[in-house]
Amino acid sequence: MLDPETWYQCDRCTNCCKWPGDVRLEDGEVEEIAEFLNMETQAFIDKYTRLRTNRSGLSLIEKPNHECIMLDGSSCRINPVKPDQCRGFPNQWNFEGWQQVCHAKAIPIKQAIKDGLVKP
Ligand code: SF4
Ligand code: SF4
Repeated sequence: MLDPETWYQCDRCTNCCKWPGDVRLEDGEVEEIAEFLNMETQAFIDKYTRLRTNRSGLSLIEKPNHECIMLDGSSCRINPVKPDQCRGFPNQWNFEGWQQVCHAKAIPIKQAIKDGLVKP
């Protein structure tokens, strides 16, 4: 349910870091995040990742309360290098009913481009 006329600006409510499920790590993201955390790649994999539910790759692990392991209070510990899955929500992917759990602010796409929030 993507809306080409609207840009949704995240208000950092962190809800999307708290629901259960995979936080997929794509090619290159493991190494980038490990480097950001000053860890060897294998040590990062051992400590912070698991197989995705469909076993097709790696996911970040979650805490017992289902929060992402990288959520620290209301901040993402790896924000500058967070996975594409995190960057893409809700403008590049979302799901039925997402607006009931995400507090992102709707901005007309023309305004978002004018304000430099989105590249044309
Ligand atoms: S990596 Fe960061 S942005 Fe992504 S779910 Fe975890 S805490 Fe949230
Ligand atoms: S749920 Fe929406 S508003 Fe909240 S942090 Fe995620 S993208 Fe941002």
